[in-house]
Amino acid sequence: MNRGLKRVISGGERDSRGGAGFGIPSVNVGVRGGNKSRSGDRAVIYWGMVLADFASRSTAVELLQRSLSRGRLGHAYLLSGEDLKFLEDFGMAFVKTLFCERSRAEGGVFPAHADACDSCVQCRKVVSGNHPDIHILRPESKMRMIRMEPTQEFIRRLQSKAYEGRYKVGFIVAVDRMNTQAANAFLKTLEEPPPRTVFILLTTEHERLLDTVISRCLRLHFPGTGDQEFPPLAMTVMEKMIGAVKSTGKLSILDRYALLSTIVDGLKTLNDTIVTEIGERSSAGNSGGYQDIDSSLAEKYETELKASIEAEYRLQRSRFFQAIQWLFRDIWLLTSHVENPRLAYPQWKETLDSVSRRITTGQALENINSIEKLQQVLHTNVQEALAIEVCFLKLHF
Ligand SMILES: [Zn+2]
Repeated sequence: MNRGLKRVISGGERDSRGGAGFGIPSVNVGVRGGNKSRSGDRAVIYWGMVLADFASRSTAVELLQRSLSRGRLGHAYLLSGEDLKFLEDFGMAFVKTLFCERSRAEGGVFPAHADACDSCVQCRKVVSGNHPDIHILRPESKMRMIRMEPTQEFIRRLQSKAYEGRYKVGFIVAVDRMNTQAANAFLKTLEEPPPRTVFILLTTEHERLLDTVISRCLRLHFPGTGDQEFPPLAMTVMEKMIGAVKSTGKLSILDRYALLSTIVDGLKTLNDTIVTEIGERSSAGNSGGYQDIDSSLAEKYETELKASIEAEYRLQRSRFFQAIQWLFRDIWLLTSHVENPRLAYPQWKETLDSVSRRITTGQALENINSIEKLQQVLHTNVQEALAIEVCFLKLHF
C-alpha cells in the first residue's frame, strides 16, 4: 500500500469495517493543495493523490489508462476492496484524471498514460471539493445508511447539464450502504445513465450489492492493502524453492520445471476461481439473465464482464509475482551485507543466507530485474507460460 505517501487525514470517527484494521496511520500528513471538511461528515478528506502515486497498484492504473487512451471510458466503475479510504483516494485520482486539463481527451480519446497534473484549475477544483460536475453521495447518520432522499437529490443533480461541459461524475462512497428504496432508484439511473456521466462506486462489501448493479459496472478489486499479506500460491511456490535449496543446496533444472508447473497450474486455478466468482455475481451467470435487455446492451455487459475478469486476474497475478520479487529482494539485501536487513521473509533467513553466499550482488539484482521485466512483459499479449519459463530458468538461486 501507499504508506508514507500523502494520503488521508482521518477524523474522529473510525470506519469500523474500513481503514481501522489495515494499518493506515491516522496521523496528520503533509498536505499540498486544499483540503476541506465536509459538513455532515467527520472525516477530513484529502484528494491530492494522482494515479502515479499508486505504484503498488500499477496493474489497475495501467488498465484504466489503457482504456482511456483507447477511448473506452466506461459509464460505471465499481472499486471494491477492504479499505474505503484507499478506494476513495484511488477513485478521486481517477476522477481528477478525467477532468485534468493536461490529460484532456480529444474526441473521447485520452492521451497515453493519462494522469492528473494536480495543479491545473480543474485539478484544483477537484481537490478543494468545489468541482461543480462531481456529485458525491455517502452514508449519513449513525446508521451509516444512504437513504432515498439524498439519493434522489444526487440523481436529480446528475440529470442536469454539465457546468464545465465535459463529464459529470457520480461518486458513491460505500454504495453497499444504500437502503433498498435508494438502491432501486439508483439502479434505474445506472441502467439509463444521463449522457456523459461516469459513476464511480466504492464498496468494501460487494456481496451486499444487487447483482444488477455489479453487472453494470467495470469492477476493479483491490485486495488486502496490508503490506505483508502474501498470496497463498506465492507462499506455496516459495516454500518449494526453499525446500529444494535446503535439501540439495541448489535449485536444479528439474526443480525449476516442477516449480513452473506449480505456478502455471496455480494461475489456472486462480483464473477459474475469478471467472466463477465474477460470473456468479453478474447477470450473465444467471440463466436467461439477458432476456429483458436488448442484444447490443447484453454484448456490452459481456465485454465489461470479460474486462473485469481480466482485470482481477491481472491484479492477482501481479501480486503473486510481487511476493516472489520480495524473496529476491531479501537475497539481494543479504548479498549487500546491509546491517540488520528488514527481510520480508525472515522465516527463511538461513536458506536465503546460503543462496546469498553463492551469488553476487549483481546476480541478485539481475533476479529482481528479471521478475520486474516478467511483470511488464505479462501486460502485453505474450504467451504467459513461456514468459514465466524464460524468467524462472535464468534466475540465480
Ligand atoms: Zn490537472
